[in-house]
Amino acid sequence: MVVLHCHSEIAVWAQRAYPLEVVGLLVGRRVADTWDVHTLVTAINLATTPETQFILDPATWFLAEQTAVQAGMSIVGIIHSHPDAPARPSSRDSASGDSLGRDLIFLIISTTKIGVKDLTAWQWDSRQYQEIDVQWT
Ligand SMILES: [Zn+2]
Repeated sequence: MVVLHCHSEIAVWAQRAYPLEVVGLLVGRRVADTWDVHTLVTAINLATTPETQFILDPATWFLAEQTAVQAGMSIVGIIHSHPDAPARPSSRDSASGDSLGRDLIFLIISTTKIGVKDLTAWQWDSRQYQEIDVQWT
């Protein structure tokens, strides 16, 4: 299960960028099968077509690592948005699953003209993404 402690911050950030895709890293703690997500570290989307794609600025890893270390936490996942598309991994997302591995969770937030539609979490099992429950506080 994913427990989101920064849900409203994520929703505002993703919606503000609509109709472009946002991408960021998530800082928190993992205990067994529970990921506590406390902090969003936003990234610049370097994709040339940010309407349908994201490329995370590699510098964000460094920034997120610093944020995590200061808080006694670690980087637990990646989040990106799907403007006007379902909050499910696309074929492009699945193609990059192996680089993500099992230890990072993959959050997708679906945005529309009128607001955030859905937020889902996924874990790569070395073949495909398995959905994980999300709870927000
Ligand atoms: Zn995607």
